Amino acid sequence: MWDRDLLSGQVALVTGASSGIGRACAEALARAGARVAVNHLPAETAEARSLVGSIRDAGGEAIPVVADVSTEDQVRSMFAEVVGAFGTLHILVNNAGIQSDAAFTDMTLDQWRKVIEINLTGQFLCAREAVREFLRRGPQPEVSKALGKIVCMSSVHQTIPWAGHANYAASKGGLALLMQTIAQEFASHRIRVNAIAPGAIRTPINRDAWSSEEAAEELLALIPYGRIGEPGDIADAVCWLVSDLSDYVTGTTLYVDGGMTLYPGFRENG
Ligand code: NAD
Repeated sequence: MWDRDLLSGQVALVTGASSGIGRACAEALARAGARVAVNHLPAETAEARSLVGSIRDAGGEAIPVVADVSTEDQVRSMFAEVVGAFGTLHILVNNAGIQSDAAFTDMTLDQWRKVIEINLTGQFLCAREAVREFLRRGPQPEVSKALGKIVCMSSVHQTIPWAGHANYAASKGGLALLMQTIAQEFASHRIRVNAIAPGAIRTPINRDAWSSEEAAEELLALIPYGRIGEPGDIADAVCWLVSDLSDYVTGTTLYVDGGMTLYPGFRENG
């Protein structure tokens, strides 16, 4: 666990923070000293309030901010609210995401659009507002060496094709080049943009894959490290990636996957 000095004086926004990986990131960033805006959908107000309460009880600072990340005016209002409350923003964790799975021939246009709109367009809208705010505020070298930091929550499926999940894999594959392009465009401004590609992490998005013993066993066959990941595994990596400890890292994807992308099927020579 990181100590409070790691991110003290910094403001972070985590999208989709009321559950799973986003929740763990918000908690970890607050423990590392950042003031945290907890983005959530209207239906998850109770969960977001309880997270904000637990961060405050632990001595941290947090506020809930409601917005659907795929809606431009809601994203703009959310950023205005965060800057209004905390003065600026230093860290964006672009985390909100969904799955809507179907065999390719059965996938509806609505399913395709919804996943692309939240997982890809949502990350574009939030990253654009974040970069605008970093540029508006200007350098604060006493707070961080970088002007601002963005972490895009991707997936091992930016690399591994995934039958039955064409919309999701396409959204994460697109995200890889969106992340690198923003990183390239703003590196000279000292804005760092990176992605984390989680493997199988125990959260509500993939409950079916780990909740029964049989499913968990099948999943473990894909993970050389021999355990399913926990949201904290991702949160710790996020804290490092947004801190000055990784100041020379930009445009990179950090795979946090227990070796899932090591082609475990080839372990015994394929
Ligand atoms: P989760 O379902 O617990 O969290 C997703 C969060 O996004 C929820 O809080 C949900 O309310 C929020 N969200 C959905 N649509 C939104 C919208 N339009 N606006 C704002 N918030 C919205 O699942 P998770 O596993 O914590 O997923 C977080 C991220 O991690 C996603 O981008 C997912 O693709 C990625 N990921 C997860 C895994 C895994 O194994 N759990 C693996 C790879 C990548």
